[in-house]
This record gives sequence, C-alpha cells and structure tokens, in this order.
Amino acid sequence: MTHRTVTAPEPTVVPGERPPTGAQAELLRTGMDTLHHADPELAALLDAEVEQQNSTLAMIASASTADPTVLAVGGAALSNVTAEGYPGARYHPGARQFDEVERLAVERAKQLFGARYANVQPHSCSSANLAVLSSLLRPGDTLLGLDLDAGGHLTHGSRASVSGRHYHAVSYGLDDRGLIDFAQVAELAREHRPRVLIAGASAYPRTVDFARFREIADRVGAYLLADISHIAGLVAAGLHPSPVDVAHLTTTSTYKQLGGPRGGLILAGRDFDAPGPDGRTPLHRLMQRAVFPQSQGTPSPASIAAKARAFAVAAEPAFRETAELIVADARALAAELSALGHRILTGGTDNHMVLMDVTGTGLTGVTAERALEECGILANRNRIPGDTRPPLVTSGLRLGTNILAQRGMGPAQMRACAQLLHLVLTGTHLVSDTTYRIDPALVTTVREEVRWLCARNPLPIDTDASTPVSLIGVGP
Ligand SMILES: *Cc1c(COP(=O)(O)O)cnc(C)c1O
Repeated sequence: MTHRTVTAPEPTVVPGERPPTGAQAELLRTGMDTLHHADPELAALLDAEVEQQNSTLAMIASASTADPTVLAVGGAALSNVTAEGYPGARYHPGARQFDEVERLAVERAKQLFGARYANVQPHSCSSANLAVLSSLLRPGDTLLGLDLDAGGHLTHGSRASVSGRHYHAVSYGLDDRGLIDFAQVAELAREHRPRVLIAGASAYPRTVDFARFREIADRVGAYLLADISHIAGLVAAGLHPSPVDVAHLTTTSTYKQLGGPRGGLILAGRDFDAPGPDGRTPLHRLMQRAVFPQSQGTPSPASIAAKARAFAVAAEPAFRETAELIVADARALAAELSALGHRILTGGTDNHMVLMDVTGTGLTGVTAERALEECGILANRNRIPGDTRPPLVTSGLRLGTNILAQRGMGPAQMRACAQLLHLVLTGTHLVSDTTYRIDPALVTTVREEVRWLCARNPLPIDTDASTPVSLIGVGP
C-alpha cells in the first residue's frame, strides 16, 4: 500500500473570473415559475398570502414585514449547505461561502447592537432562551421572570414550558398602574436568590428599566438575561435604552420588530467574558457551546444569510425613520382610542404596543379578535392584569404599529385606524364568550375602508398597488 501526502488544495477563484452573475436570482425565478406549473395548489396559497398581507391592516405587535431582499435571501441555495459547528471550525466540508456569510452576520449583529459577542445560530428566540438558561442553570435552580399573565413569555418560567418545569421558576408581576413592580422583583430576588433574573416581555407597553434590573441581579449574585424580542428594532434604532452593556446576556427574535427571518440571536456586551457559573468559563464561550452542540444541531445557512441582510437593513437611516414612526403611531393610536372611550392599559405607551381592555364594549378578547379579522384588521387577544377569563378567551387586545409604520402610515392616519377599530368593536354584539354577531353591511364597509387605506399606504412587498376610492372617508 502506498502512502502519499495529500495536500488539500486551496479553493481557487481564478482572477478575473467570477461566478455567473445572478445565478441565485435566476434560481429563485425558475423555482417560483416551476412551482406554478408543478404545484399550483401550493403556489396559489402563497400568492393569496401576499395579496392578504397587502390588503390587511395588520396590527400584530409581534409581527413586521420583512424587506423583499431579506425574504429572497432566506430562499437562497445556501440552504443546501449542511455544516455543524462555527465558521472555521465546521464538522463538514463545503462551508466556504457559509463561513463568510456567518462571519458577516455576526459582525453586523455586533455592529448594529454595539455588542462584543453575537451568536446568530439560534433557530428562534425560544431556542436562544432555552440555550442560555440550560447553560447558566442546573435542573432545579431558581430563575425569576415576568409572569406570563402579566405579559411575560413562556420561556421565562411558565409551567407550560420546560423553563418552568426543569427549573424552580418564580415570577414577578405588575403594580396597580400596570408597571413592572420593582419592589416585588427586589423582594422575590432577596427571598429566592435566583441564579438568573429575566427582564423582557411579550406584552408590555412601557420602557423597560434594564439598569434597575441589573442592580437587583447584582445584589443577589444573579445573571441578568434581557429578552428584547419585541423591542429589538427600537433598541437597534436607539429609541429604547439598550440592555446589551447592562445585562450579562441579551436575546431576541429576529423576525419581530427587527424585520428579519424567523430566528433568534444571542448578544453580549461589556460582560461577554464575565465568568460563568463554574467561576472560570467566560460567558461567550459558554454561549457558543450552549447553542451547538448542547441544544441545536446544524445551523440554517440561508436564515443566517437573511439575518445578515436584515441587520444591514436595520442599520440604514430609513429603518430609524420607520422606528420613530412606530413609536409616534403607537402614541397616537393609544390617544385616539382613549378619546373614543376605550380603556388603554397604563394609559398609553412608550413603544410599539397598545394594550386595550375590551370589556367596556361588552366583548371578550377572542370575539373582538375574530370580528376584526372578518373586517380585515388583525390584532390578537391578550390577557389583561386581573383577567378572569381563560387564555383562549381573555378580556383584552394587543395592538402594534410595526407594520402600519412600515406602510408609511403616520400619526394622522392612526385616527382612521382607531375609528375603524371603534366601528367594529362597538358594532359587534356578544352572543357567547367566543361567538358574536355583526351586521354584514358593517363588515363590507370596514373591509372596503381597510382596502383603501392599504392601497394608499402600500407595503414594501406590494408590487402593484392601485388606488381605490374611500367609501366613508375616515382616511386623511
Ligand atoms: C416572541 C418572544 C419569544 C419567542 O420568540 P420565537 O422566536 O417565536 O421563539 C421570546 N421572548 C419574548 C419576550 C417574545 O416576545
């Protein structure tokens, strides 16, 4: 048997020769064209979805519309690369472009958030949170987070999530003004001495004081995890205080206000090399292992590329302008709804979110949600503090202005949105906790008005906006 030394050849790019331009664009075009012949059923559903997004007033606080370039990148052939591990340290060959893409995504995430460390591999923020928790906590250790019913997230210690089953989860709530009860946070921290304190929420319309959380965490020797899933766009734009240098670790979803693909992100700032629970291993190294191999397998290369693209979009001045509009719109929407007699939790908002008590209209959260959807307006039911109704029914609605602002709608147009909400909520009659009655003529009128508003304020994904005429003239 002969032995010979095989030197791996340097992957070569011949000078002056570039890959055929637009190979990826062509592939996407061909793929979609072929889909229409090969699978018309599925293609029709995808087309109907675009049409629906274009012609619906979406006020889902956890959603936004990804830039068309982000959507396209998410469908790239890069997705065909299977490579566990991290750039330069993969467990499979063939990751040359992917390594560069992931490095780019990490650099852009660090730049955008002023972070010292970023992990772009989490498939979702739930995965990111569970990775962080499982590397900082042993089973049975204590964590302290915002109660689900007070606006917290499942992964912050809810019994419905492993975060509330594998760990001893203690939760804090809101005071009687609907604000985070810091006296209670401090008291529970002193009593239970959690190893991890979580700051962040899925339904909280006010600024989160991360520095105050950090003081409490330091007093009891806890790690502070900031989860900015809902407000990541405002944080990136400098319109909400950043927790990146305040918390030990920060996590976020990338598809919510950040306008990226489905996915998650872990960041660390000043404390990126603070010691982990063993007193030695720095946090950034713990986090690398926490994601892979401890809680995930192969990363999703095209999603990581789409994250890289979204971070670049979020760094542009236009993103900041939209973020400013998001906040101004939410304030205006809250004020208009209040003026129409609706109860707005905390009396207003500091971010993109307006929480509303619908009991004044005689409705439940779920009937309000369904009646609005029938009229082309999307807003989801939400429990409100002291809610006596079950989670599938609820007494509140959660509204968000991310997508309205992405349509270019400003505070002046929030009056039209508030009036449409008001028309539907006051024109709907409760039959049971989950069923309602609404005049079909009202549905038609509101639907037409919604179409008109949408056509006047097209989404970035709307390729052929036409301009119909307002029927009842609530628009400016
Ligand atoms: C939405 C949300 C998550 C979960 O994000 P996914 O990416 O959907 O798993 C985690 N934390 C908070 C505060 C959220 O609002």
